[in-house]
Parts: sequence; structure tokens; C-alpha cells
Amino acid sequence: MEEKNMYKEILESLYEGIYFINKDRRINFWNKAAEKITGFSSEEVKGKFCCDNILNHTNYEGIELCKNGCPLHASLQDGLIRENIVYIQHKKGKKIAVAIKTIPVFENGKFVGAIEVFTDDREKTKMLYKMDQLKELALYDQLTKLPNRVYIENYLSARVDDYNQYQIKIGVIFMDVDYFKNVNDTYGHDIGDDVLKMVSKIIKSSIRKNDMVGRWGGEEFIGIFTEINKEELINISEKIRILVENSKINSGMNEISVTVSIGAIIFRGDETIDQIIKRADNNMYAAKDTGRNRVVFK
Ligand code: GH3
Ligand code: MG
Ligand code: MG
Repeated sequence: MEEKNMYKEILESLYEGIYFINKDRRINFWNKAAEKITGFSSEEVKGKFCCDNILNHTNYEGIELCKNGCPLHASLQDGLIRENIVYIQHKKGKKIAVAIKTIPVFENGKFVGAIEVFTDDREKTKMLYKMDQLKELALYDQLTKLPNRVYIENYLSARVDDYNQYQIKIGVIFMDVDYFKNVNDTYGHDIGDDVLKMVSKIIKSSIRKNDMVGRWGGEEFIGIFTEINKEELINISEKIRILVENSKINSGMNEISVTVSIGAIIFRGDETIDQIIKRADNNMYAAKDTGRNRVVFK
């Protein structure tokens, strides 16, 4: 048997789904197991672009990977192997969890494409799915779906590492809803929750793509920014402050709006995570002391 055919036969007999894409992200091989797992035949997918999104790859949160962080495309670009759990859509519509591995392919030292190996090993994917859920419970706040305190601390620590290595600037803002206890006391806890969700949405939509915002606790939020200077940080903070002030939710006959006090700082380079957050918190308190609904940078 010719060597090439022999390899092909081996790939066809595997229990894992395998497909190849070339440099243009066009699918040029699709094995029998891939057909079995996805319901799509080789004829249906060969020649199509992997970003035609035939399989509708999404992550745990339902975010479409094809346009937002396709691991196969990432491997094609940086030459690294990746392992993930993703969700794909079977031809008949059902979503299934698959464990995938994406591997770049070199020929004579040149990039020629990438391979995705995937399996729907039920036990393994069930376990990984559970781990995804646990990870979400451990790192995200259930009410606002924002990263929680543990996540924020880890994220900030990683940004400080980046600063130490590459001097990438860090800005931090501490936000606290003003007189929030009054909202709960006047309209009830559920409306209070709705207000917190509204505020988180406003903050999330006001920050740039690579910034992050998390819920520090109660009615307190922290934003972390990189590659930012004082003016830009104050501008974003003011934008958040003004948007919150001008937004409202309706409850029966009532229109409810709140304001936020914001403390902003730029990392000095010699502070611990606790000291960074403390300094931002102190500025937030200075904003409260000087009338609330304000941004203080010091
Ligand atoms: P200040 O302007 O000084 O910040 O006043 P405040 O009323 O916002 O401050 P305080 O810390 O006294 O009140 C915060 C309130 O936030 C008290 C607590 O019941 C409420 N809270 C904390 N977490 C939640 C939550 O998840 N949902 C709701 N509805 N309320 C919450
Ligand atoms: Mg508070
Ligand atoms: Mg408050």
C-alpha cells in the first residue's frame, strides 16, 4: 500500500473525529468518525471554510467561537497546540460537547495548515462539562454574570506580572452604588438586584475590548484597564458615571435610577494587589465624602 493511503486508512479507522484545514482555513480532510459524531458527511464539508461555521462551535457560555476565538485558527496563527471543550451542533440540531485538540501542521519547516482532533467521549466530556460549570460557579458572580472577587484578584495579579515584565500600564477603578440601601428599602431586594444588573451592563458596555470589570461584592464593582493613562482612565470613569446617572429601570409606576461614586488610580509599580485595591477604594470614599456621583483620581 502506498504510504499516503496507509496514513489515510489509519485516520479513517480512528475513533476520534479528525479534520484538516489548509492555510486558507479550507477543510480538505474529514474522517469517518467526524461524520459519525457530527452527522455531516465528508462530501458536505470538504472544500468549505472552517469559518463557514458548519458545526456552530460555541464555548460553554454559548459564545460563537468561529468569529470570537476559534482555537483552530489560533493554532494556525501561533503554531501552538490547544486543548478545549467546545460545543458543536450535530446536523440534526442537537448540541454536543466535544473534547478537541488543535494541532498546527508543518511541512519542510513551513506552515501548511492545522488539524482538529475531536471526541465525544461521553464520560470525559460530561466530567469536563461539570468542571466548566464548577469553574463558572467559582469564578463568576451568578447575579450579574461578571467575574467575581477571586477572578478579579487573579486577573490583577497577572496584569502586575505583565507590568513587571513588559511595563504595560495598569489602571484600576473602584465603583460603589450610592445610597443603594435606600433602593432595597424602598422598592425591595428584587428590584435592587435588577438595578445591580443594569449597572453591570452599563459598565461592561462602557469599557474597551481588552478591559475587564468584575463584581467585587454587594454593590461594588472593580474595573481593570491596561495600556491606559490618567486622562483615558478618567474619561472612561466619567462615561460610566454619566451613563449610570442617566439610566433607569421601570417598576410599575416608578422609574428607578441610581448614581455611582468612582475611585480611580494608575498602578505605581511598587504596590501589592491589596494596596492597589485599597488605594482605589480610598479614592472612591473620597468621592463619597465630597458629594457622591463623582470620580476621584489621586
Ligand atoms: P453609600 O452611598 O454610602 O454607598 O450607601 P449605600 O446605601 O450604598 O451603602 P451600604 O453599604 O450601607 O449599603 C449597601 C447595600 O447593598 C446593603 C445591602 O443590603 C445591599 N446589597 C448587597 N448585595 C446585594 C445584592 O446582591 N442584592 C441587593 N438587592 N442588595 C444588595
Ligand atoms: Mg458598598
Ligand atoms: Mg453603596
